[in-house]
Amino acid sequence: MEEQVKCLIIGSGPAGYTAAIYASRADLKPILIEGVQPGGQLTITNEVENFPGYPEGSSGPVIMEDIRQQALRVGADIRAGMVTEVDFSQRPFRCVVDNRDAILADTVIVATGASARWLGLPSEQKFRGFGVSTCATCDGNFFRKRTTVVIGGGDTALEDALYLAQLCTKVYIVHRRDQFRGTKALQNAVFATENIEVVWNAVPVDILGEQKGFIKKVTGLQVKDVHSGEERTLAVDGVFEAIGVTPMSDLFKGQLEINEQGYILTQPGTGRTNVAGVFAAGDVQDPNYRQAVIAAASGAIAGIEASRFLMEN
Ligand code: NAP
Repeated sequence: MEEQVKCLIIGSGPAGYTAAIYASRADLKPILIEGVQPGGQLTITNEVENFPGYPEGSSGPVIMEDIRQQALRVGADIRAGMVTEVDFSQRPFRCVVDNRDAILADTVIVATGASARWLGLPSEQKFRGFGVSTCATCDGNFFRKRTTVVIGGGDTALEDALYLAQLCTKVYIVHRRDQFRGTKALQNAVFATENIEVVWNAVPVDILGEQKGFIKKVTGLQVKDVHSGEERTLAVDGVFEAIGVTPMSDLFKGQLEINEQGYILTQPGTGRTNVAGVFAAGDVQDPNYRQAVIAAASGAIAGIEASRFLMEN
C-alpha cells in the first residue's frame, strides 16, 4: 500500500503528539506513527509535577493519554507501527511503515525521542530482566520489601530512588561524584528519606548474581571508590540504572545531519534539519533540557514550521 500525506510525524512523545495538534489545526491532516513505545519516555514516569496544567501533579501515562486524546480530537490520524525506512533524498519523502506500507510525505516531523542508556557492565545483559532494569516504575514492584540500588545522580536516579524507597526496605544510590546534578527539590526529598543511603564517589564494576537452570537472580553490585580504588559489594536484589539517555536517531543516519552523540542537528528555535521539509522536535534533537514541556513546545514549533513550509513551497 502507498499513500500520500502533507505531514508525517514519526514518534509519539509530548513532541510528536503536540506536533500533531498543531499540524492538524493547520489542516495538514497529519499521520502520526507511534513507534515502539507509544507515549514515549513519560509513560514510564510515575509522578510528574512540572508539566503545566496539572496543579496537583499527575502520572506520565495520564498526561500522555490526555495529549494523545487532544491530538485525536483535532483530527490527527494516529497509528500503531514503526517507521522502518526513510528516504529524504527527494520530495515527497518516502517512509516505510513496518517494512510494508509506504507513505509519501510532503513534510516529515521526526520526534523519536531518546531511550535509556546501559552501563555496559560484564554481567549486565545476563541479568537484564532478572533484577537489572532501567525502569523503576515498570519493575519496582518486583522488589517489595527487598534491597535495591539506583545508579546515577540526575533527576531520573533521584526520582527512581524516591519511588523505590516506598516499596523497598532499603535503597542505595551509587553516584560517581560527590554531588547530584538532579533538581534541588528531589535532592532534598532524597536526603530526607530514611531508607535511602547514598554511596558517593563510586562507580559500578559488575553485577553479581546466581543462576540455577533458567532462573537467574541478582545478589549484589560491586562498586569501586573513584579516589581510593577500593572495591566493595552492596548486597542488593535489584539494580536500576539511571545514567541518562541516547537519542533515537539511528534510522536517520546518512539522511540527516546528526552529531557525535546522536542528536539530530536543527537550526535553533526552528526545528529545521539540513533537509528542507524535514523537521525534528523533542529529545532526539535536544541535548540540553530534555523536559516534557520543552519537547511539547518544540513539537508545536515543528508543526508550525511544517505548515509554513508547505505554504511557501
Ligand atoms: P542525566 O541528567 O544525564 O543524569 C545522568 C546521571 O548518570 C548523571 O548523574 C551522571 O553522572 C550519571 N552517569 C552518566 N554516565 C554514567 C556512567 N557511565 N557511570 C556512572 N554514572 C553515570 O540523565 P537523567 O537523570 O535521565 O535526566 C535526563 C534529562 O531528563 C535531564 O535533563 C533531566 O532534567 C530530565 N528529567 C527531568 C525529570 C523531571 O523534571 N521530573 C525527571 C527525569 C528526567 P554525572 O552527574 O557525574 O555526569
